[in-house]
Amino acid sequence: MDTDRRDLVDRAREAGVQLVRLQFTDILGVVKNVVIPAHALADALAGHVLFDGSAVLGFVRSEEADVYLLPDPDTFRVDPPAGADPPVARMVCDIVNPDASPFPGCPRSALKRVLAEARAMGFCIDVAPEIEFFVFERDRAGRATVRTEDQAGYFDLAPGDVGEDVRRAAVLELLAMGFPVAASHHEVAPGQHEIDLAPVDALQAADLLVTLRVVVREVARRHHAHATFLPKPVTGINGSGLHLHQHVWVNGQNALADGTELSAIGRQYLAGLLQHAPGYTAVTNPLVNSYKRLVPGYEAPIYVGWSDASRSPLVRVVSAPPDRVHLELRSPDPAANPYLAWAVTIRAGLDGVARRLGLPKAQPRHVPAAADAERLGLGRLPDSLASALDAFRRDSLMRDALGEHMAERFLEAKRIEWSVYAAEVHAWEIDQYLNVY
Ligand code: MG
Repeated sequence: MDTDRRDLVDRAREAGVQLVRLQFTDILGVVKNVVIPAHALADALAGHVLFDGSAVLGFVRSEEADVYLLPDPDTFRVDPPAGADPPVARMVCDIVNPDASPFPGCPRSALKRVLAEARAMGFCIDVAPEIEFFVFERDRAGRATVRTEDQAGYFDLAPGDVGEDVRRAAVLELLAMGFPVAASHHEVAPGQHEIDLAPVDALQAADLLVTLRVVVREVARRHHAHATFLPKPVTGINGSGLHLHQHVWVNGQNALADGTELSAIGRQYLAGLLQHAPGYTAVTNPLVNSYKRLVPGYEAPIYVGWSDASRSPLVRVVSAPPDRVHLELRSPDPAANPYLAWAVTIRAGLDGVARRLGLPKAQPRHVPAAADAERLGLGRLPDSLASALDAFRRDSLMRDALGEHMAERFLEAKRIEWSVYAAEVHAWEIDQYLNVY
């Protein structure tokens, strides 16, 4: 066993760890885990944990059932509460074939492949996600509701509200786990909150975000509340976004800016993010419900445009000291699988650089009406999951980013989701039509 692995086994023993949670996600970003006793850690680090992949979405064919979990030593963390019951260690895993090659249905491996392409172009990519979510009450039977007593708004302090307690407890727990929490605050809508992470290497940022969602939901449950990352849980108020701040470095220098202006690479990367926006929307906004957020009036982007002046275009150039100028992509939502969302959007930016795409003019500060948007030549983001899936299928870059296998499985799963939704009679239709027709 090499020294790194030996070191981890020693660290686990010293921390009194008895169980190790091996974590990974399916293509929809749902967290799965296999728990092993600490004495099996050395074997796990050598990639000997077999699991039945047929139970996991995206790994459905029986000939693909035998896959292995390969824990990434860099992700070893001991979960709090420290000193309580025997601590549990957590590691994030890649999924590999029996011959140790990356399994094509592994979202984390897809992101690693895109980041390797970035490195081959000389780029290191950091991502800082801002994730929004709602904290709602549970009813007497413990079922989640969409109710909140909270009346607070943007940056308000609402003492006594359970949502505030949940956010504070979650942030403290994340800090104890070593998360780079940059800020957290109340968001615009009642019951809505946000946690921001500082920029870190894109792979690590995706690992952290997957765990963050689990921690927030778990803390809410302990407060007898329900935290949800559903993009638009309530009609008529803001939905929840997952804004992605992307930084691109070359030899430790900010590649996106020359001084405080966008550099040539910055302009090309931004042009790539715009050009492929319709194609990657199915990945960054993966639910039927995601498209109820992408409507006018709630600070979520509708059009494919950019700005360094207004706050709610699809891509915002964040002006900052020269070493910090970067791009904020504002369309993704918190239901996205972070590995896949990072993979497709970073790949889109890299494509802009590789093809030296020209940057369209910045959009004006306010784009009030659809007619104006058309006059300005601004395209619209897909307005439903069905049209997003069509755009995904038409953009061959999505297959490059995710790989043929994962792109196919993703489309398959999402088309089923859409057709089930489309065949359902919804409460709105009964309200609107029953007495009229
Ligand atoms: Mg926000």
